[in-house]
Amino acid sequence: MSATDSLYQSIRGQLAFLRMPAAAEALPGELDHAMAKKIGHSAFLERLLAHEVTAAAERRRTSLERFGRLPAPWRLEDFDFDAQPGLDRAMVHELASLRFLEDATNVLLIGPPGVGKTMLAVCLGRLSIEAGYRTYYTTAAELAARLHRAALEGRWETTLRFFCNPRLLIVDEVGYLPMAQEAAASLFQVVSQRYLKGSICLTTNLSVGNWGRVFADDQFVAAAMLDRLLHRSVVLNIQGDSYRMRQHRARAQKLRSGKPEHEGDR
Ligand code: ADP
Ligand code: MG
Repeated sequence: MSATDSLYQSIRGQLAFLRMPAAAEALPGELDHAMAKKIGHSAFLERLLAHEVTAAAERRRTSLERFGRLPAPWRLEDFDFDAQPGLDRAMVHELASLRFLEDATNVLLIGPPGVGKTMLAVCLGRLSIEAGYRTYYTTAAELAARLHRAALEGRWETTLRFFCNPRLLIVDEVGYLPMAQEAAASLFQVVSQRYLKGSICLTTNLSVGNWGRVFADDQFVAAAMLDRLLHRSVVLNIQGDSYRMRQHRARAQKLRSGKPEHEGDR
């Protein structure tokens, strides 16, 4: 084996030891390229490392994506603002900058079913994942059930920490089902633990004045929770028509007027 060969083998070995498979794989190509283009050591090294950095960033994105458990592939570009004229469009775009994550501001999306609350929350979640922030989607019912099970199995602390860890926690559908006292207490714990530390994006069909009703009529828990949620928050009220209903109505209207449905119908 020539000296060059053994040097090459040694570099391959070192890259493997350092778990840099993309750089290892790119090594022969980059060596040839450096030779052919007569590029210097620094430029060669920069190019080689760039392979590993790109691959590592990709791995991280995939893992954040899998972890986040967003329920749909929705993106903000697909959100039809014209269908929701009452919604503060400028505020949604401000939220899309993700500055709210920097000071643990919460986002409350309030409105009746079908107006796009989950869609907006998921769109923010998608942006947050793409920006490299740990993000997690759950429903209020699931969160309560998880913490309930954890308590029975002696894992309450660990599970609470799990919900406090992501930079953005999406809690969907608060208020759809009435929460038993224990469930309300669980949600309260998560809200308290994250208070001023990490953002929560919460969707609910309840106007703020009706919060007591979900939490087993416990006005105290409701008030304490709202206090923490609202202290640093953006509240978006979406009161427009249900988007699904709009689609149905448009279709029904078209049927009545005898026009065939065609592409571009919503
Ligand atoms: P909510 O959570 O408020 O009940 P969703 O976010 O689940 O409503 O929206 C219901 C359905 O309507 C989803 O398929 C969603 O993608 C769609 N939708 C709602 N609002 C819009 C909108 N403004 N633009 C595009 N699609 C929308
Ligand atoms: Mg929803």
